[in-house]
Amino acid sequence: MTRPIQAIIHPAALVNNLLVARQAAPTAKLMSVVKANGYGHGLLRVARALEESDGFAVLSVDEAVRMREAGFTQPILLLEGVFHSGELSIVSELGLSIVVHCVEQIEMLKRAWSPVKLNVFLKLNTGMNRLGFAPESFPSALAALQACAIVGQITLMTHFATADEAAGVGEQLARFKGLTQHCTLPQSLANSAACLRYPETHGDWVRPGIMLYGASPIATQRAADLGLESAMSLVSEIISIQNVKAGAPVGYGGTYRAERDMRIGIVACGYADGYPRHAETGTPILVMGQRTRTLGRVSMDMLAVDLGDLPDAGVACPVTMWGVGLPVEEVARAAGTISYELLCARAERVPVVEG
Ligand SMILES: *Cc1c(COP(=O)(O)O)cnc(C)c1O
Repeated sequence: MTRPIQAIIHPAALVNNLLVARQAAPTAKLMSVVKANGYGHGLLRVARALEESDGFAVLSVDEAVRMREAGFTQPILLLEGVFHSGELSIVSELGLSIVVHCVEQIEMLKRAWSPVKLNVFLKLNTGMNRLGFAPESFPSALAALQACAIVGQITLMTHFATADEAAGVGEQLARFKGLTQHCTLPQSLANSAACLRYPETHGDWVRPGIMLYGASPIATQRAADLGLESAMSLVSEIISIQNVKAGAPVGYGGTYRAERDMRIGIVACGYADGYPRHAETGTPILVMGQRTRTLGRVSMDMLAVDLGDLPDAGVACPVTMWGVGLPVEEVARAAGTISYELLCARAERVPVVEG
């Protein structure tokens, strides 16, 4: 018998979520962000479901190569550009678009040769202070790029630090507008949260990521209320039942003690599968579609669940860690993290099926 854990990917949900993004930003072209192996869902599987996208964004040349080899002809943007000049020949060969966020990358473009012009997304740092040109160096960066023989279309780009929070995008957007007001170049600003919350950021290209996978990018709004559907269900089964006496410890460290005589289910899923070890006692989980809670510490390969309200649950009963019926955001919150981390953390050993 193989271990019963699986990640079920729902292509129909990806298609639905792409439509939600389109409806939110109807005037913009849509660049689906499929970095980190499609947020853990599988790069090509996701790209196929999202084939109606106007473009894709990835992190590495490697991912872009796989997509071109699979036949995707849309623009593909490298979100951090090239890491060394040696990558520019493949960028040229595959017709990739590249972010340019620092002077070193401009120097590489000045020295490079390409038979075709390269499309560039010039990244401005409007306040996140991670990547991008500071406002004062923007004019010279733009001029340098425009003087580069191999640079074709230039798109102006920035990324928001708090589009999903109360602070919003106001300050960063104002800075971006101030810098670019006399430019007619295309613009790209919006991640998922900005797509949904701030139409004024839509510009020419939106860059949704997390919403395509069915998780809400906004803490105060549930995915379902936004019309989003889970694209991944992490499922497994109960592999053992324990009847424990009141006061008995459960799991490593004995951090949980049975509040009464209890029936406990042991599930084939642990932190080596990508389930968060920091999920505390009480983290929501579904057994036979019914909501219950985890108990004690998560082990490497197993976790414990409360079967108090599930007298019929036994070995081989289905368990959903997150996905259809249980938003991944809820599990993330109980583990002190965000949905992005849980989705990306799916371990290699968890087989993926479509359904
Ligand atoms: C990851 C990423 C996105 C997508 O962000 P979500 O919050 O997942 O929508 C957009 N733009 C850039 C530059 C990114 O790195």
